[in-house]
Amino acid sequence: MNEAAGARLTIDLAALAANWRTLARLDPGSECAAVVKADAYGIGIAHAVPALADAGATTFFVAHLDEARAVRAAAPQATIYVLNGLPPGCCDAFAAIDARPALGSVEEILEWTAFRAATGAATRAAVHVDTGMTRLGLDPDQARDCLPRLPFAPALLMSHLACADEPARPETERQRALFAELRSLKPDAPASLANSAGTLLGKTQGGGLGFDLRRPGVALYGSNPVAGRPSSLRPVVWLEARVVQVREATAGAAVGYGGAERLRRRSRLAILSLGYADGILRSGGSEDGAPGACAAIGGVPCPYVGRISMDLIAIDVTDAPERPNRGDWVEVLGSTVSVDDLARACGTIGYEVLTGLSRRSERRFLG
Ligand SMILES: *Cc1c(COP(=O)(O)O)cnc(C)c1O
Repeated sequence: MNEAAGARLTIDLAALAANWRTLARLDPGSECAAVVKADAYGIGIAHAVPALADAGATTFFVAHLDEARAVRAAAPQATIYVLNGLPPGCCDAFAAIDARPALGSVEEILEWTAFRAATGAATRAAVHVDTGMTRLGLDPDQARDCLPRLPFAPALLMSHLACADEPARPETERQRALFAELRSLKPDAPASLANSAGTLLGKTQGGGLGFDLRRPGVALYGSNPVAGRPSSLRPVVWLEARVVQVREATAGAAVGYGGAERLRRRSRLAILSLGYADGILRSGGSEDGAPGACAAIGGVPCPYVGRISMDLIAIDVTDAPERPNRGDWVEVLGSTVSVDDLARACGTIGYEVLTGLSRRSERRFLG
């Protein structure tokens, strides 16, 4: 316990489990996996994976082999896929922990095939096909050529949606239709297309994006990728910052580096022990005429004032329901300020806020 910590991060594992169950129920005919790459979107694989496994998740996706090792340690029985595919010379390392690479190029497929032939290893792999994102995966012509001749049965045939967070975009239906065509070349392989946005669109929209397995990530952690669409996801991450001092400042005072915001009225400011070194993006600061993000006291938003420093943020608490005291904790993320609120105010997305969360904060886990 660090009694002098500047920030306190509380991770609600019961809410994480509840979010997984909520997503699983949206389409009971399709398995719900859990994407836990980037250390479970910043909250910590070692805590997130056991909570998700207890809730019923049996399949996990990570980006890197090291992350797969952390999942294997936390959930010995889990099925684990590695989305970034197979780095050269790593077949043995995948087989050693029974992690399944998502093979996304002809080179990867050839290396994997040669390894299996040489060692007789029974380890399995997914095959990733590109249906319109132009990032990873066999392009459609390669897939049409390759899939019928694959010398092994893929454990999963997968593709990734590029635009599902914007439900009006026509690309999602084009990706779904192309994926359905490609999977018909390997009809015995379980198929997976949907991320969080595709999962939230559910069975009602997009002509059924669920296929056999869904791969939600960010929604598990309480961020809704489909802006403006209500969801019953619970907040998982609560970040509080310590008040270093409270000060009265006169109208016209310039606050913080560059004097970027001058106070328009006599104000009471609280200076928080948190800054961009804790993952709060500088773009969340304010300047004259351009408001920034908010913290919250007693459910009332308290705007950031001026630029965000490395270790400090000034907030305006003039209108707060109670005067904070030195040493008090103030909500930076929680029930009043959501991950998506903070992201919007910083000009970014919930993913970047979550994965940027500080390692400097004191971390606590609930549930
Ligand atoms: C990150 C990722 C996901 C999860 O995406 P979310 O938008 O966080 O739900 C699913 N599939 C692939 C291939 C990914 O890279």
